[in-house]
Amino acid sequence: MSLKGKVALVTGSTSGIGLAIARTFAAQGADICINGFGDAAAIEKERSGIESDFDVKCIYSGADMSKGAETEAMVTDAIKTLGSVDILVNNAGIQFVSPVEDFPPEKWDQIIAINLSSAFHATRAAIPNMKAKKWGRIISTASAHALVASPFKSAYVSAKHGIAGFTKTVALETATFGITANAICPGYVWTPLVEKQIPETMAARGLTREQVINDVLLDAQPTKQFVTVDEIAALALYLAGDMARSITGAIISIDGGWTAA
Ligand code: NAD
Repeated sequence: MSLKGKVALVTGSTSGIGLAIARTFAAQGADICINGFGDAAAIEKERSGIESDFDVKCIYSGADMSKGAETEAMVTDAIKTLGSVDILVNNAGIQFVSPVEDFPPEKWDQIIAINLSSAFHATRAAIPNMKAKKWGRIISTASAHALVASPFKSAYVSAKHGIAGFTKTVALETATFGITANAICPGYVWTPLVEKQIPETMAARGLTREQVINDVLLDAQPTKQFVTVDEIAALALYLAGDMARSITGAIISIDGGWTAA
């Protein structure tokens, strides 16, 4: 499938799932805007690597997805610099694990801002350009936690359920404009986000590292395997293509059977 002539903006793409999606779209010829935090030299290496590996344009925005104005400016700047944003991937996200009565309110606010409100701000800024072109793809990385809950993840589960509702609403509003809006719901994917929550889960549940990996994380997944970032990127690529034009408002699981149980 060719994405030549399209521009894709992927939030939270300096690492993990977002980076895999950005590279997969670039491999099909899309110009790219990456976003996220990290070491400046490492980010520049990723940005220039995308340009040289795939012969596309790639720009970087350091916009903080917890800030609405920065998120909106990232989209309008990408439209100015690259000519358009045809594919928006709302992917930036963080996790925090704690019983609800101990959950720091500032962590709650931060997770709702980054994992939910940033999708609103970016989508809001991207839609007028997509409507004008009568073509657009809005893909949000939700989670199995958009469909089911786990204890100690109140903010994350709330934000991801919110993404499912937001996706369905945007799909209805844009359905006659050649725009689709869908949410991908991965199970556990081995990325820094999962690695970071292991010590927190060890503390919250009083378990060892091995117990957290086998009895908490992989216990949820009937396949007993982590999902890979490349599998997620392949699904995102399909949703970005013309053959997926009738898939909209869908909340699509890619979770090794987790939510079938
Ligand atoms: P990751 O930690 O590897 O990547 C997260 C990205 O978001 C990084 O690029 C980071 O710099 C960026 N980011 C964080 N805070 C930001 C902010 N304020 N502004 C801009 N960028 C910010 O994690 P990942 O596992 O690749 O997660 C990507 C998405 O996938 C998240 O929305 C996450 O909830 C979702 N997800 C992950 C899993 C999993 O098991 N890893 C499962 C389901 C859903």
